[in-house]
Amino acid sequence: MTIETALHWIAGEWLPSQDGALAESIDPATGQALGRFAAGGRAEARAAIAAAKRAFLDPAWSQNPRLRQDVLLAWAARLDARKDELARLLTWENGKAIAQSRGEMGGAISEIRYYAGLARHVPGHVLEVEPGVFSTMLREPAGVAAIIVPWNAPAVLLVRSLAPALAVGCTAIVKPAPQTTLFTAAFLQELDKAGAPAGVCNMVAETGHEAAQEMALSDDVDVLSFTGSTQTGKAIMAAAAPTMKKLSLELGGKSCCVVFEDIDVAAIAPQIAAAATIISGQQCTAARRVLVHASRYGEMKAALRAALSALRVGPGLDAATQIGPLIDHATRDKVGARIEEAFDLADEVVLRGSVPGGVLAEGAYLTPSIVAHTDTKAFFTQEEIFGPLLVLERFESEAEAVAKTNDTVFGLSASVWTRDVSRAMRIARALRNGTVWINDHNKLFAEAETGGYRQSGLGRLHGFDGLADFTELKHIYLNAGVVPALTAS
Ligand code: NAD
Repeated sequence: MTIETALHWIAGEWLPSQDGALAESIDPATGQALGRFAAGGRAEARAAIAAAKRAFLDPAWSQNPRLRQDVLLAWAARLDARKDELARLLTWENGKAIAQSRGEMGGAISEIRYYAGLARHVPGHVLEVEPGVFSTMLREPAGVAAIIVPWNAPAVLLVRSLAPALAVGCTAIVKPAPQTTLFTAAFLQELDKAGAPAGVCNMVAETGHEAAQEMALSDDVDVLSFTGSTQTGKAIMAAAAPTMKKLSLELGGKSCCVVFEDIDVAAIAPQIAAAATIISGQQCTAARRVLVHASRYGEMKAALRAALSALRVGPGLDAATQIGPLIDHATRDKVGARIEEAFDLADEVVLRGSVPGGVLAEGAYLTPSIVAHTDTKAFFTQEEIFGPLLVLERFESEAEAVAKTNDTVFGLSASVWTRDVSRAMRIARALRNGTVWINDHNKLFAEAETGGYRQSGLGRLHGFDGLADFTELKHIYLNAGVVPALTAS
């Protein structure tokens, strides 16, 4: 696959940066450059925001659901035709195992089709509040949406904001993470070719944060949909406060798997190991804590150690790989250092991961680790460490399991593992998380809303309610009067 230099997409044209600046995208499996992209900043962001605003003011887009559906369906069809090639580019740039990239492309295409359908069904409601007095509640597009996404799932995380935004009639500016800009540009080129009118979607790439900050500060951006860390989410919320734009924030998490005594340890340990190491542990909902009933704790510890040790670490493009490299060397070193600190403080190091040598020495690899610990206040039980680390804990009662799981500032997702259906429901209800899976983990798809309680975010993406982050509800009042009844003559 050859990669041309990726450019900004502004007002329907693919353009270099105003100062001609370029940056390299690096293959995390080898440390080698695999392409270049135009590195912009404030000026490109301003131009893209102006283009999106002009496009929004044209009712040909914002008030034409059938056109929006046609464009979204054509985009999905074009992506479908290139899905294998794009999955390889995704793995090349991001490092994740190729099966995960294929799954992500399939999920993204399916989600575009889901919102293409909803484009023609964005209902409001009408009330007759007194005879002849009508209140029409109309769901309107909120305006210009800025969409800032991370590198870990650049197809699905882009689509779950961009597709509902476009479906309801917003226009958009996308700011990808620098690590996955080549993929994002290739993915959006298909939207351009699908016939999106000029300015309806724009993309600005950068290595720093100037363009993103401009989007947070601009009065011409009506919605900011951000997916990323809680720390950056707070900075964006503060920067956006003076303009009071609508915020959709999908932030960090510390997912806990609560495992009861009636489960089949041998069957679920590999499932939890996979849930902890998806995208090398770089997924917001990845399993981070495993809380096991005391009666099965020893057995589960041994089974998890075996399951995680058996996972194959290697280049994502190798079909046998289950854990690819982390996103880049700097991230691997930072995450690795935090895990080393956990080894020093934990009650027990169950599995000591490391930086592999040999043929993997040049890549940003890190093998998985498990620590066992009792105190839920430990930094590695509280902090989101965005890599392959599991913390193993134990409990004696349902009440203790719930209290320990909820002892966190995050509230993104959790899972409950038991054969007792009533218990599963009781625990799911008691956990303060946007998503709770029963006997499964990491099940995310177009139809089901996802989002965070507490410091895991604001708003919901995916599903029908995902439209709400990109709409305003307008009340139109009309006193039409009534036709008088005929009087008998
Ligand atoms: P990040 O916050 O560092 O970056 C996310 C995006 O924001 C990138 O595009 C980045 O370039 C940009 N950015 C970074 N610093 C910025 C700043 N100061 N001002 C403006 N923009 C800035 O996050 P990351 O490390 O790329 O991604 C991992 C994080 O994302 C984890 O915390 C993970 O849990 C979270 N995440 C959450 C979800 C979810 O659905 N809740 C999904 C995926 C990832």
